[in-house]
Amino acid sequence: MQTFITRFAPSPTGWLHLGHAYSALLTAQTAAAQNGQCLLRIEDIDQGRSRPHFVEGILEDLAWLGLTWPNPVWRQSERFAFYEAALDDLRARGLVYPCWATRGEIDRAISDFPRWPRDPDGAPVYPGLYRDIPEARRKELMWEGRPYAWRLDMARATAEAGTLTFTEHDKDGNAQTLPVDAARFGDVVLARKDTPTSYHLSVVVDDAAQNITHIIRGRDLRPAAHVHRLLQALLGLPAPAYTHHDLLRNPRGGKLSKQAKDMGFRAFRQAGWEASDLIARLPPPVGTGTFETPDF
Ligand code: GLU
Repeated sequence: MQTFITRFAPSPTGWLHLGHAYSALLTAQTAAAQNGQCLLRIEDIDQGRSRPHFVEGILEDLAWLGLTWPNPVWRQSERFAFYEAALDDLRARGLVYPCWATRGEIDRAISDFPRWPRDPDGAPVYPGLYRDIPEARRKELMWEGRPYAWRLDMARATAEAGTLTFTEHDKDGNAQTLPVDAARFGDVVLARKDTPTSYHLSVVVDDAAQNITHIIRGRDLRPAAHVHRLLQALLGLPAPAYTHHDLLRNPRGGKLSKQAKDMGFRAFRQAGWEASDLIARLPPPVGTGTFETPDF
């Protein structure tokens, strides 16, 4: 078995931007340096926002950068049964509970507490509504048919998993062992009535199913590693190592994002650029440039 397997795992909800190009190249280069393998995985669980033309765009843009990957490319939309099985396992052990709370209900529940804690994504930590309701009430609510989410009972989950650590490599490859602190996320959503998984659940199931040994991704996903490590422990899955790289900034110093309509890098291709010119202008270790060039 290969000892270094990593993956690039974009969500096809928009065109890839330069940050994705940097991340994909860094991931592929690290795999090559380790004599390992880099897989491509399409994370299209969000059926409301994923689009087939973005999947095609991802494949074309990465190929233009000169990247190759083993086939078949996994698509998470074809793997819902596996995520459901993982959720069933957690459900059978009483580690998840159905929650009908709307955003308004949550806001009202915490409105008297101005310093209510926020999770690392900036959302208020879930105040535990519907966690401890009687089974009979739960059945009634199920019958009513309103949408609900499956939330992890974080207190139970952390008690069951015990003390955990994860391994993180810095950009020079030095490994550090860090304590896991998933509790600050509160009772995270692991699935919804209409989407039987969440990012956290599908990513750990697939990283294990694809024998991923090393995860390389942007620093914005660093906090999520705590939840992922906890889920790996609960589901009896192996623990990959992590590297969280710096994010590319746009010329205004802000974060690149699909939402901010930062130019997809396909625009450079369409404007006649060579991939090598674009790669050279990315920051090290991928290229030798800085991204701060306004006309880039
Ligand atoms: N699909 C995620 C994204 O596009 C990345 C998942 C990961 O690398 O863990 O942000």
